[in-house]
Amino acid sequence: MNHLDGNVLAGPGMGLFAFDPTTTQCQCQSCADIATLGQAMVYGQPMGFVARCRYCDNVLVVIVEHAGQKSLNMRGLRWLRVGDEARNDRISAGD
Ligand SMILES: [Zn+2]
Repeated sequence: MNHLDGNVLAGPGMGLFAFDPTTTQCQCQSCADIATLGQAMVYGQPMGFVARCRYCDNVLVVIVEHAGQKSLNMRGLRWLRVGDEARNDRISAGD
């Protein structure tokens, strides 16, 4: 299955946030990679989107749209930071 660029989340994410989520920094819970959400690998489904880590394939964010409502799951993130400049640091997790 081919993946889309993380920037495809701009549309569905705008209904959940008062900011564009693709420009925010976040850290992967699994491998500690720090990147913007726009750099994730996104797989589109008929009801929503799954964003996976660009390094380890961990599921970062799931957005499901159904019956006019949106649900957001971000348990694959350690954190999501709003308002910082975009950086692409990778913090070593012991490797
Ligand atoms: Zn990762």
